Amino acid sequence: MRQGQWIGGRSVAGSAGQSIDVIDPSNGVIIETLDLAGPADVETAVAAASAAFDEWSRVPPVVRSDALLALGRRMAERADEYARVESRQAGKPIRLATGFDVPGSIDNALFFAGAARHLQGSAAAEWDGDHTSTIRREPIGVVGSIAPWNYPLQMAMWKMLPAIAAGNTVVLKPSELTPLTSLMLAEDATAAGLPDGVFNVLTGTGVDVGEALIAHPSVRMVSFTGSTRVGHRVAEIAAAQLKRAHLELGGKAPFVVFEDADLDAAIQGAVAGSLINTGQDCTAATRAYVHRSLFDAFVSGVARVMDGIVLGDTSLDTTDLGPLISEAHQQKVAAMVGRAVEAGATVACGGFVPDDLDGSFYRPTLITGAAQDSEIVQEEVFGPVLVALPFDDDDEALRLANDTPYGLAASAWTTDVVRAHRASREIQAGCVWINDHIPIVSEMPHGGYKQSGMGKDMSLYSFEEYTQIKHVSTDITGAARKEWHRTIFAEPDPQ
Ligand code: NAD
Repeated sequence: MRQGQWIGGRSVAGSAGQSIDVIDPSNGVIIETLDLAGPADVETAVAAASAAFDEWSRVPPVVRSDALLALGRRMAERADEYARVESRQAGKPIRLATGFDVPGSIDNALFFAGAARHLQGSAAAEWDGDHTSTIRREPIGVVGSIAPWNYPLQMAMWKMLPAIAAGNTVVLKPSELTPLTSLMLAEDATAAGLPDGVFNVLTGTGVDVGEALIAHPSVRMVSFTGSTRVGHRVAEIAAAQLKRAHLELGGKAPFVVFEDADLDAAIQGAVAGSLINTGQDCTAATRAYVHRSLFDAFVSGVARVMDGIVLGDTSLDTTDLGPLISEAHQQKVAAMVGRAVEAGATVACGGFVPDDLDGSFYRPTLITGAAQDSEIVQEEVFGPVLVALPFDDDDEALRLANDTPYGLAASAWTTDVVRAHRASREIQAGCVWINDHIPIVSEMPHGGYKQSGMGKDMSLYSFEEYTQIKHVSTDITGAARKEWHRTIFAEPDPQ
């Protein structure tokens, strides 16, 4: 059994007395068995992170930058291994892991290596003539981070990099389904020169380890990526201690195709945008609102491309789509599609579990005829399922696009610049793509509106989450007699 924890710069065994099998969902094979962390390990990891904070928060930014640069370079040397492990534990086609997850993660490390040297306050100034004001931007302390299973490595990086670059220390709990690349990352972080205790990883369940981590009094901030349901619970625990909570939650992205859109591009974009990572992507296109004049052509085009998508062995370059993360999740997706059909919707393609594959696969699915207020339109499916609905005018399209509790991402397809600007203004989401859906870059922020959360990952904006601002005011006159004291008491002169 492999040791599942990384605490204080080394691999240690979890103390829960339980183990978990990490399973390749494409074939049900056990990849590794890990021991689980328990409450005692939360104590040890938080103590290690607390002990490391004093020094790490005070080293010059260039020291933090050097370590993150070395981390990015180490990861680049092991890129193939990261991709293989990520592909197996999360059921990703190797093409996606090699071309997206791993290079994106390395790029993030390199970005934050640079960004670590750009933490800024504002220029010193004498606002009242006698006092010089400066702004100190300071780290918060130990950050408890919790990540989901859909992009295990990228989510671990999005959590740990800005926090550590800003001088915090981190205890990360990856999803218990996909802890392997987070453990590789911890090993590489230590080898790259991050001092012991700056980055710690606990493998454990949400209820046992996640909640203990969030509730630990020495954890000063919580950074969570996962479902909106669990996000509410995380916020509740954090609020009880008035702890800062950065929440990246679920999504239900609209994909709006206006009447002047390039239809072929929109069809291509809808398939890629809805099926990426087997639809297990918080920003995936899930609701296509298509102008009625294009609707039939859009539906037949998307169904044709979806029907040609190749599912299967994730180690092959020829495979387009992997399985869902687990059998339980496969059943959840199938049940949601079943309920949509019972409620009157039509399956235009897919809508079934393929019987020629062993893993937890589900055929790419396009649904029409669903009601706007139905579950399949309103709730996150987190699978390869796109719903298409027609609209008649721009106002209706934008109203429908905003008509869910979520607000993470959206796209608008149009060749009219005015329409594009209007859509980007009206749509309530943390990201609006015009004529594309999905691309992200380290330099730009990612985060939700409404029930999709609060705060930003990536980019310099993420430093707002992981730092606090202090005003320092210095009397530069050195005068003992201060005129303004007369507003408090009549005779301030100590003599
Ligand atoms: P989840 O909410 O079930 O679990 C996420 C993490 O929280 C896991 O590590 C889990 O162990 C932990 N957890 C579960 N219960 C907990 C509790 N009571 N206290 C503390 N931690 C707990 O989500 P998931 O199924 O792993 O991931 C899919 C979800 O993540 C989707 O809703 C998706 O939209 C969302 N997601 C959002 C973003 C984003 O950036 N907004 C990115 C990726 C995934």
